[in-house]
Amino acid sequence: MNKVIPLLDQRISARAAAPVFAGGRLADTRGRAMRDLRISVTDRCNFRCVYCMPREVFDSSYRFLPHDAILSFEEITRLARVFVGLGVNKLRLTGGEPLVRRNLDRLVAMLAELDAEVTLTTNGSLLAKQAAALKKAGLDRVTVSLDSLDDATFRRMNDADFPVAKVIDGIETAAAAGLGPVKINMVVKRGVNDQSVVQMAERWRGTGHIIRFIEYMDVGSTNGWRMDDVIPSAEVVRRISERWPLEPIDANYPGEVAERWRYVDGGGEIGVISSVTQAFCSSCTRMRLSTEGSLFTCLFAQSGHDLKALLRNGASDDELRNEIAAVWQKRADRYSEIRTESTAKNKKVEMSYIGG
Ligand code: SAM
Repeated sequence: MNKVIPLLDQRISARAAAPVFAGGRLADTRGRAMRDLRISVTDRCNFRCVYCMPREVFDSSYRFLPHDAILSFEEITRLARVFVGLGVNKLRLTGGEPLVRRNLDRLVAMLAELDAEVTLTTNGSLLAKQAAALKKAGLDRVTVSLDSLDDATFRRMNDADFPVAKVIDGIETAAAAGLGPVKINMVVKRGVNDQSVVQMAERWRGTGHIIRFIEYMDVGSTNGWRMDDVIPSAEVVRRISERWPLEPIDANYPGEVAERWRYVDGGGEIGVISSVTQAFCSSCTRMRLSTEGSLFTCLFAQSGHDLKALLRNGASDDELRNEIAAVWQKRADRYSEIRTESTAKNKKVEMSYIGG
């Protein structure tokens, strides 16, 4: 450790001599602005979803990060403040399963002081218990993942024998606590849960909650992704439209990930997230902060930029700001636009680590 610090000190003082980011609109090499920060608060999860953390890999011998390797709430908040100063207006807590991190409401309260929306993506298993405290702490909205209403299918997919009813209880408790309308994410995998698409649409029609169908992606290196397993969003829209006609509607804001469709009969709206068949890299405004403080410019990245070393070696806010701005300004990622069966085999960082 003693040998490493002087080297880092040299890097920091070299950076201090560089011009401070002068403000204005921060753009990457493709002209994209930085607006969202996804913060992974833990690499652990109480589910073993077959497409995300397959049990064969994430088993009892898997080495999750030790406590001292992960960013503290104070460190996360300090970085988040710098990001907000650079133009980020949305913070999303994710993981792993964010609600397994103890006292998460304390972090929410700290982030709620910043000038940004604070949201959370969760598998819903612990939401009923924590929804009121999260709302009180200042959480703005919640997204809950739910892959099927068929209990046997859902238990098979989460591979933790967790029932649908408890997730629905989490969704309803969150809505009652004032965290609605809730967004519900369903990853659609051919032959696994695609038979649940229409039933899922029916369950959330007219409730005010918004179901979003996500194309199964080649995140990480462990899920054995194949293009044949992807149900294109166009097919999801077609299947639902055959029952209740849908029409496209405008995005709520530029760069919105989900494409919105509404029921012609007034039954509300659905979303589709087509990362595979209709890449949205050109409008991607997201940065990701991993549980141990590495910064990733793309969900499909193969490496990150270490901010924790800077934080823990005394970097000033200006130095952090310069570093983050420089990473964004160099950003050229467009993985989903150039994806092939062969890039899918790249050694990518796992989604549970980088933050979904
Ligand atoms: N544990 C939380 C949850 O379940 O929502 C947050 C983390 S999880 C990695 C975030 C989202 O990524 C979930 O909606 C999950 O279904 C989705 N996801 C994970 N692996 C995926 C894949 N291979 N393709 C598409 N979506 C995926």
